[in-house]
Amino acid sequence: MSLGVETPDSRCLHCGAHVSPAFARVHGDNQDRAHRCTRCDSHIRIAKGSAAGLAVTVPDPEIAEGRHGGDSS
Ligand SMILES: [Zn+2]
Repeated sequence: MSLGVETPDSRCLHCGAHVSPAFARVHGDNQDRAHRCTRCDSHIRIAKGSAAGLAVTVPDPEIAEGRHGGDSS
């Protein structure tokens, strides 16, 4: 059991959700910080570097409406 050993770096800088150290290492920036995660961004954008803090041309799912079916009526 290893509870409570997560570091602040294992959280998404955008939404604060927990991300695995492996995710931060693979997809994060060169300091292993995840700028976005699978909770707040799409896999396509993460694969293109959004989690590393890069500007990605793929529309942000939080901004692009109508794709997720999030009816706000
Ligand atoms: Zn996030």
